[in-house]
Amino acid sequence: MIKMANITKAFGKHEVLKGINLTVKKGEVVCILGPSGSGKTTLLRCINYLEKPNQGEVTIGDFTINCKRPSKQDIHTLRKKTAMVFQHYNLFKHKTVLENVMEGLVIVQKQSKETARQTSIQMLEKVGLGSKLDAYPSQLSGGQQQRVGIARALALNPEVILFDEPTSALDPELVGEVLEVIQKIAKEGITMIVVTHEMGFAREVSNHVVFMDQGVIVEEGRPQDIFSDAKEERTRQFLKRIT
Ligand code: ADP
Repeated sequence: MIKMANITKAFGKHEVLKGINLTVKKGEVVCILGPSGSGKTTLLRCINYLEKPNQGEVTIGDFTINCKRPSKQDIHTLRKKTAMVFQHYNLFKHKTVLENVMEGLVIVQKQSKETARQTSIQMLEKVGLGSKLDAYPSQLSGGQQQRVGIARALALNPEVILFDEPTSALDPELVGEVLEVIQKIAKEGITMIVVTHEMGFAREVSNHVVFMDQGVIVEEGRPQDIFSDAKEERTRQFLKRIT
């Protein structure tokens, strides 16, 4: 249901993605692993066109965008099928928790305020923040702010949620609560692509692991196979260092 075909991306002369082919099935949780600088975040951001690939095609559901000459409307259509959870939460500081979640529904999806409000409250309850609707981001812990970010993504009811290192800005004691929420929504069958350094999470929660290095997918497969029996030396070295 999501397909990247021969995606390349360069920043100046630096080729960061060198022909990526990736297929993600509906309902799958895919973790993207790899050393820093290997192109994981860039790949994730190419899926919703936060980075414009130099060439290739991205398909989400029934919609394919050819990266050579996409129209503004094409990009808009693609983006509406995705939601992103950012490393640094990206919440509006001067809006309440509830307003942060409602914003996309009212402004982008043109829902009525009342409908948006109801959905937003439901999603905030789902991530355990039903009692914080009127709080401002600065009054919350990092873990709570990231859970707002997750509620905001869920509320959009996207075809896929893209997580860009969702726990790497958090103090260690706050990582668990965020991973638990992601695990809970994974069980609901929402398609998710997660760039992460949390190997325990990748092993336990994902259905599919992709290992990247230097702009290519070196190896991919089921977590139980990759973690215990990686075929490629680069994957084995990486996992040995990090676990
Ligand atoms: P990862 O997520 O695996 O750490 P990134 O996708 O963030 O890797 O980055 C891959 C490479 O692309 C890095 O060398 C990084 O410096 C470079 N890069 C990322 N974004 C930009 C940008 N906007 N401009 C120039 N170089 C970039």
